[in-house]
This record gives sequence, structure tokens and C-alpha cells, in this order.
Amino acid sequence: MYDFIIIGGGIVGMSTAMQLKHSYPDSRMLLLDKESGPAQHQTGHNSGVIHAGVYYTPGSLKARFCLQGNKATKAFCQAQGIRFDECGKLLVATNQVEMQRMQALWQRTEANGLERHWLNAEQLKEREPNITGLGGILVPSSGIVSYAEVTQAMARVFTQAGGEIRYGAQVTGLQESQDEVVVQSSQGDVHGRFLVACGGLHADRLVAMLGIDPGFSICPFRGEYFQLPAKHNQIVRHLIYPIPDPAMPFLGVHLTRMIDGSVTVGPNAVLALKREGYRKRDISLGDSLAMLGDAGIRQVLRSHLRPGLVELKNSLFKRGYLQLVRKYCPSIELGDLKPYPAGVRAQAVSRDGKLIEDFLLKQTRRSIHVCNAPSPAATSALPIGAHLVDQISNQLLALPGFDARRPMHNNNPQPA
Ligand SMILES: Cc1cc2nc3c(=O)[nH]c(=O)nc-3n(C[C@H](O)[C@H](O)[C@H](O)COP(=O)(O)OP(=O)(O)OC[C@H]3O[C@@H](n4cnc5c(N)ncnc54)[C@H](O)[C@@H]3O)c2cc1C
Repeated sequence: MYDFIIIGGGIVGMSTAMQLKHSYPDSRMLLLDKESGPAQHQTGHNSGVIHAGVYYTPGSLKARFCLQGNKATKAFCQAQGIRFDECGKLLVATNQVEMQRMQALWQRTEANGLERHWLNAEQLKEREPNITGLGGILVPSSGIVSYAEVTQAMARVFTQAGGEIRYGAQVTGLQESQDEVVVQSSQGDVHGRFLVACGGLHADRLVAMLGIDPGFSICPFRGEYFQLPAKHNQIVRHLIYPIPDPAMPFLGVHLTRMIDGSVTVGPNAVLALKREGYRKRDISLGDSLAMLGDAGIRQVLRSHLRPGLVELKNSLFKRGYLQLVRKYCPSIELGDLKPYPAGVRAQAVSRDGKLIEDFLLKQTRRSIHVCNAPSPAATSALPIGAHLVDQISNQLLALPGFDARRPMHNNNPQPA
């Protein structure tokens, strides 16, 4: 019998496992993932940006965790010898409407407590000779890292502290009773006193396995990228972002310096017809029918039809995609857009057809589920994990038999 079973070897599951082990060092802990190693899905297919927390509603969990996560991620990388680069981010306005939106973003960054600098067109040109715009906001604390590397380090810390990881173990069923949770997997059944589910693109299905209505569904959106040829590796010094439409803050392709020295363009956001469908041709009949049958997802698709079709057009026609980036970086040519692997975002949609913006948890007596952990959840994975440990500690108070394994470091669950 394990004390804790964690499902999900992405950055959220691994961060939680590492911090839970630190808080309950004597407990028996097992992490399961269906893949052959950690970070095979969202965590290993993203932009690698350590976000600063520019866009998020002040006071939301997203805003709070991102600000904490920015510092915590850098500290963790320093402690573990993981390379990161605090290269800063530039938000660039290319017309008068965007200049007005930039003003609103300026206020939001103040409310979120960020260091930032207002640049006029001349200052922008000085900092970024290849970027054209009327003005910009420079946020120095944004950075880049490989989240796959961060997750591997978390796995190492977890196993060195005595935690066990089983890869290639697909969870197929869950049963919660008065005394335990039984996890059925492709490697057999395991029994635990408490379950933590961080299943990303399958979060709703893991809740449903317990026989309860999740109250949300995961809608997968593919984020497609291109990579610039090596001759453009120095084309920008910062991460370059357009000023987003406040109604669609997650849209807008950016120029991203990657930690390996290359530069990517992207991601867009197109509906994926398979939850882990990384290529345009990946289609799952089961996933597609489930989406069509979901009233909430149908409502989201209806209410975002126009931007959805524009994203699809730009996905199918490279020239449309090129125009998006040429708005602020006119020297990029069609031939500069080289293939690069896509990612798929797990976006939770409520039953009444809303995109759920903030982090979302669901608890039963012996389990806690991370239901929505969209971007910037890689940046925020350490504070999310610490928050989960706090929630779990509270839940354990109501469970007899756990007092022998009282938390040792509950005030600071994150290892140095
Ligand atoms: C295109 C894109 C760009 C992004 N860019 C950024 C960025 O620059 N910065 C940032 O902070 N965030 C970014 N994000 C968001 C970030 O990557 C995610 O929020 C984060 O990785 C979520 O981590 P996770 O652990 O919840 O999910 P995942 O990494 O998807 O992990 C979930 C794990 O659960 C496992 N699992 C699921 N079901 C089962 C089952 N039944 N049995 C066993 N295992 C199971 C899966 O195999 C997987 O390993 C981006 C996301 C995408 C898609």
C-alpha cells in the first residue's frame, strides 16, 4: 500500500511529487505515467518561456503563481545546474489600436507588480534593429529554459528521496473507497491512501474514472511552430510578442529564442482532432465524436468561430502565418519558416461553454485532481505543487491513519 499515488509525469505532477516527498519524507510514494519517460506531452512541447505574468487578471491564481514561479523556476535551475537565460520580453505595438491596448497592458503589469519599461519607436529600434513598431513594453524578468530538463531534475530529486516512478503505466480505472484508492493500470493494480492526478490532456477522463461528473471537458488546441534557419539565430535579442487582443489573449504568434540557441515562430491555436495529435493528419474518431457530443465545447467553437477559422486558414496556408510575424519582423521570408514540432494545449471548457482561464482543482475525500493547468503552468509548476501540498495536508486531517506521517516541512515544501 502506497501513501500517495501521483498520476502524470509532466511538470505539474513531477513538481507536486517532489514537494510532497519533501513534506512527507517517510511516506511511500509512486508516480505513474503512460509514456516511456517524463515530459512527453505539454511539458516537452512548449515555447520554453519562463513567463513574468504580464496578462493575467490581478489577484487570480494564475497571476500569483506566475510571479512566484518565475523566481522559483530560476532558483531551482540554479540549484540543479540547469541552463536558463533571463533574456527579457518585448511586447511590440504595430498600430494605434495596439498602442491603446499597450497602455492597458502597462497598467495591468503595474497591478501585477512587474518591473517593466516603456519604449518609444526609437528606443525599440535601438534594442531590436530587426523589429518594427510604434512602441513596446520591455519586461526584463522573462526568460527561457527547457522544461523537459527541469522535469527530469524534479524526477531525480523525487527518486533520490525514495520516491518510485513507473513509466509505461497507463491508468485505466480508479476506485475510491472508505480506506483507499485503487488505481488500475496497464502494469496491474496499485493501492494507495491518497491520489493526486495531474493528467493534462486527460484530466477530465481521470476525474470521470472515479464515477463522478468532472463538470468540464478538455478541448485540445494544437500550437504549431516554425523554426528559423540558423542564419537568423541572432535576429532578436529578446522574446518578441505582439500586443494581444484582450478578448483573445492567448492568440498571437511570437518570436522565441530557445535555450538551444535557435529561434522559433509560434504557436498558433487550432482545434486538434486528437488529444495527443501533434500532426495535422492525426485524427481520433473517439476524441472527435466526444468533442462534437459535448455541449460546452460546441458552444466554445460557435462563439470563437471567426478567430478559429482565421487560425485554421493560417495553419493551412503558410503565407497567412508569415504575415502575422512580418507585422513586427518584416525581414522574415517564406523560405525562413522551417518545420518544427507542434504542442497540444489542454484547455478545460465548462459545461456552459466557457474557456476556463484560471487553474482549477477538484477534490474528493482521498484525491485531488488538477483539472486545468494551461500556460503559464510550466513557469508556475513549483508554486502549483506547493499549493497542492497545502491542500493535501488539509485533506489528510480528515483521514484517520495519516498522523504517523505528519508533514516535516509544511511551511516550506519546496526543496532548495
Ligand atoms: C504549445 C504550447 C506552448 C506553451 N508554452 C508555454 C511556455 O512557454 N511557458 C509556460 O509556462 N507554459 C507553456 N505552456 C503550458 C505548459 O506547457 C503546460 O501548462 C504544462 O506543461 C502542463 O503540465 P502538466 O504536467 O499539467 O501536463 P503534461 O505535461 O501534459 O503532463 C500530463 C502527463 O499525464 C500523463 N497521463 C495522462 N493520462 C494518463 C493516464 N491515464 N495514465 C498515465 N499517465 C497519464 C501524460 O502521459 C503526461 O505525461 C505551453 C503549452 C503548449 C501546449
